[in-house]
Amino acid sequence: MSSQDKPFTVLFGRKEIAAVVSRLAAEIGRDYYNKHPILVAVLKGSFIFLADLIRLLDLPLEVEFVRLSSYGRGKESSGKVKVVQGLSAEVRGRHVLVIEDIVDTGLTTNFLLDYLRKKKPASVKLCSLTDKPSHRKLPVTIDYLGFTVPDRFLVGYGLDYDEKFRHLPDICFIKEEQ
Ligand code: 5GP
Ligand code: MG
Repeated sequence: MSSQDKPFTVLFGRKEIAAVVSRLAAEIGRDYYNKHPILVAVLKGSFIFLADLIRLLDLPLEVEFVRLSSYGRGKESSGKVKVVQGLSAEVRGRHVLVIEDIVDTGLTTNFLLDYLRKKKPASVKLCSLTDKPSHRKLPVTIDYLGFTVPDRFLVGYGLDYDEKFRHLPDICFIKEEQ
């Protein structure tokens, strides 16, 4: 398959992603060095970002996963968010840092932040690899942001389309159907 036949175009290449992840790790490392945070990663899309980020964090930390559902199998959000897999650790009194792949409408993130705040952590902040502000329905404050992205459906570096393309090392967008 030549690059012309591939159904996606690279938006951010692996080197650019690595530079941005390092920058985020430096910011987070500086802010959390004595806080022993719990990083709450949202499955599945954030798993590669999380894995790269935490290996650059030279501080005590814990990792938890939550699985939420809002999207069906296509590109559109159903708008209804559910917790499919919740936290297994106690977060009361702890510093929680949510790790997201992308904030789009903001519905998923708002739901998750509410869910976490009800558990009375010492703090909750949000780190998202990407922000797609064009479809925002609810405001979201992203404390640590990697890239602002255009109104395209992204895949790669953890992001899927129908469970495919998560393994692509670059962040790509799907070409419009011919
Ligand atoms: P929101 O609730 O903010 O609309 O959507 C959040 C979730 O939708 C993200 O965590 C991600 O799973 C999914 N999502 C939104 N935009 C994209 C995209 O461009 N590509 C992929 N693969 N998932 C997306
Ligand atoms: Mg997600």
